Amino acid sequence: MILTDSHAHLDFPDYDHDLPEVLERAEQAQIGFINTIATRLGQAAYLRQLTARWSGMVGSIGVHPHYTSEAPVTEADLTAACRQAGPIVALGETGLDFHYQFSDRQHQIDSFRLHIRTAQALGLPLIVHSREAEAETMAIMEQEQAWRCGAVLHCFTASDAMARWAVERGFYLSFSGVVTFKTADTLRQTAAWIPSDRLLIETDCPYLSPIPHRGKRNEPAYVVHTAAVLAEVRHQDLTTIADCTTSNFQQLFRIAPASSSSETLAYTIGDGLYLNVTHGCTLHCQFCPKWTAPIVHHYDLSLRRNPSVQQLLTAIEQVSEGDISRYHEIVFCGYGESTLRLNVLLEVAAEVKRRGGRRVRINTDGLANRVYGRDVTPQFRGLIDAISISLNAQDEETYNRHCQPALSGSYAAMLAFVEAVRQHVPEVTLTAIRGLPGVDIDACRRIADTLGVHFRMRILHQLG
Ligand code: SF4
Repeated sequence: MILTDSHAHLDFPDYDHDLPEVLERAEQAQIGFINTIATRLGQAAYLRQLTARWSGMVGSIGVHPHYTSEAPVTEADLTAACRQAGPIVALGETGLDFHYQFSDRQHQIDSFRLHIRTAQALGLPLIVHSREAEAETMAIMEQEQAWRCGAVLHCFTASDAMARWAVERGFYLSFSGVVTFKTADTLRQTAAWIPSDRLLIETDCPYLSPIPHRGKRNEPAYVVHTAAVLAEVRHQDLTTIADCTTSNFQQLFRIAPASSSSETLAYTIGDGLYLNVTHGCTLHCQFCPKWTAPIVHHYDLSLRRNPSVQQLLTAIEQVSEGDISRYHEIVFCGYGESTLRLNVLLEVAAEVKRRGGRRVRINTDGLANRVYGRDVTPQFRGLIDAISISLNAQDEETYNRHCQPALSGSYAAMLAFVEAVRQHVPEVTLTAIRGLPGVDIDACRRIADTLGVHFRMRILHQLG
């Protein structure tokens, strides 16, 4: 079962201190895709960073109706923001909010029309926000022929009549935690009849936490409660709701379905078997090929979403033809940071050992303790035989320039990780790349010597 959160705001400051844990919980809750929505154009650069760092996260950008009076924008501004934000999947959220009226009504209307026209020009679907503005929303979408680009009415709480209007025009309706509220009987009646191929689910986090989390900060993992209520009122099981809402998500946002057979989860180089467990990491290394061509040898290591333990074990079984002991080592590698999926890594490592794997190694950025806010290295004991940690530079300034960490204090945290992991993993190696401007290989080697671990120099653009 894979769930999707079609509307989240993970660029908001609410997640500044614990985004990695939020995403870890999302993964444990079987959330395969999240669409994170930037509500101001100034967030474009950060949106690009977010979606590049986490497998399964896609992004959308637009000017929220609340902010349309801040500064007038043009079609060129919207188009430029879309480019800056990277590959985005939709324009918005846009629309009308006559409940709060934080922005002038005419500004909202002008902005809504502009977003629809720009979406049509760019070939992107729209994410529409409508609150206490049903008639005006429908009129503008009719006049601007919004059906030409497609749209979702997000956080749908409007009337049954508007739902019927939307379905007749091929728009999607996305239900949030509001549908779980005790007072939402009418909305649940609407949710009960929406055709399966028009249905989406979302959190709209950090707002609108579903019951039983109402009153707390919302997060993608909680979308399961909304899905469960939809399953109940529609007399379907949870898996059916997950399947149709994920399929609709992929259809609307034009995301090709991921399948383990089309993605490289296990691959061999020499006498090693390598595992590709995620595309995400909290660094944005300038020298990393994943931003342009994530290829190692002839393997395309791009991943659209994170594989499960079972998918990884199946891939190992297929590649090794049932005999994992034939490999010198099994390496968690790929173009992503495998410790971001710590539980999956540990489970797969344990099973690899049980099946006769000779040696298990992790290639890592050494930021697991920084990400989780605790010392995770004791969990490696007995499972991980060797660990290669990317030192990358002899000082923090050079490291930050080349690696662009998302988390403050990453360099110091990585060095502290080396000291911690030495207590639990027999073989620890620091690596640095010759050829990066400003990187002093001898100084890096001395750091490894001081820490009492091995050192390996790598050559820029030599992979595998
Ligand atoms: S080199 Fe590794 S840590 Fe750096 S961006 Fe690429 S995958 Fe992430």
